[in-house]
Amino acid sequence: MSNFNPADNIQDLQYFGEFGGVNPSISDSSTYTFLSAKTMFDTFEGNAEGCYLYSRHSSPSNLYLDRALAAMEGTEAANVAASGMGAITPTLLQLCGNGDHIVSSRTIYGGTYAFLKNLAPRFGVKTSFVDITKLDTVEAAITPETKVLYCETVSNPLLEVADLAGLSKIAKKHNLKLIVDNTFSPLSVTPTQFGADIVIHSLTKYINGSSDTVGGVVCASQEFINDLKDVNSGASMLLGPTMDSMRSASVMKNLRTLHLRIKQHSFNAQYLAEKFEGLGLKTVYPGLKSHPSHELYKGMINPEYGFGGMMTIDAGSLEKANALMELMQEKNLGYLAVSLGFYKTLFSAPGSSTSSEISPEEQAEMGLTDGLIRFSIGLDNDIKRTFEMMHDCMKELKVI
Ligand code: PLP
Repeated sequence: MSNFNPADNIQDLQYFGEFGGVNPSISDSSTYTFLSAKTMFDTFEGNAEGCYLYSRHSSPSNLYLDRALAAMEGTEAANVAASGMGAITPTLLQLCGNGDHIVSSRTIYGGTYAFLKNLAPRFGVKTSFVDITKLDTVEAAITPETKVLYCETVSNPLLEVADLAGLSKIAKKHNLKLIVDNTFSPLSVTPTQFGADIVIHSLTKYINGSSDTVGGVVCASQEFINDLKDVNSGASMLLGPTMDSMRSASVMKNLRTLHLRIKQHSFNAQYLAEKFEGLGLKTVYPGLKSHPSHELYKGMINPEYGFGGMMTIDAGSLEKANALMELMQEKNLGYLAVSLGFYKTLFSAPGSSTSSEISPEEQAEMGLTDGLIRFSIGLDNDIKRTFEMMHDCMKELKVI
């Protein structure tokens, strides 16, 4: 691991507002004037560096956030989008067309899975879903038509860890692009350090951190970002999942505290995971020695940011899981809600919510049980007190 520190890279950027404001000015315009008609023509042709044309293509506010997220992920460039799906789908459609093939982890966010399984085939793009932790299975699924290897660093919801260095080796050998969704592990893992070509985030989660918007980003080479934004053939430009400038300015402000939040999320989750496991609950957290990829993940993280805020427990049945979540919400220990990365703990049963796009048979095959509760652990000031109250809920409902 090099001395790469994603939070320092963000902090090293210095932006001022138009009148010397400590925050950059918000560009509240959808279109921009030109002093000469020739410059407008050149901008359309992509030859007028620094000129703005139309905010579906770029806006100054979006470019500030692009630059900060590219610095965080160690890429040349980035392009923010209106949602995580608005980052994922144009990226895949830019790289794959009729007849092309994708090898994807089978444990990914349900929306991404549904896109690859149900919508991408309508564009002639087929996907093989594999156990991403088995590198030989991944390699065996590659065909002459394969263009992309797709995974999440830490998968949703099973928290499987992708061996990014191993996957990158396979991708390079077969001339594929390795795309990594790093939504669960910002700052903790920098996928480009292990050879990822393209890194995607749903900004909706940790990066924005206040559950007040959806957003996404693609971090990649300047060449790929230019391709995505090309006025004639760019999937982001032509499908139009553009983030609004007002929103990118607010995400930018929240990004400033990401390093502090991630440390606290990780601290709290590590504490609870150890306690839950100690009670005999089936607990999955990459920071536990019992996690099958604990050692691998330990070698992948930027240690100061820890193992992240996501964990799962198995309450035994859907009924028990639902009762526990309802009781914990009643006691104000968190909210029964999907999504993640909020100051408050959020919990949901993925089998019947965020992964419900995956059929019951496929869920069983990948080990997604009915009683599984996914926790996004919050920023609680006193996690010991939270644990004691959760423990009481578990005892009352005979979960333990
Ligand atoms: N990737 C992961 C890992 C997610 O959990 C989600 C949403 O839950 C997405 C992508 C999609 O992001 P969005 O909801 O912002 O479109």
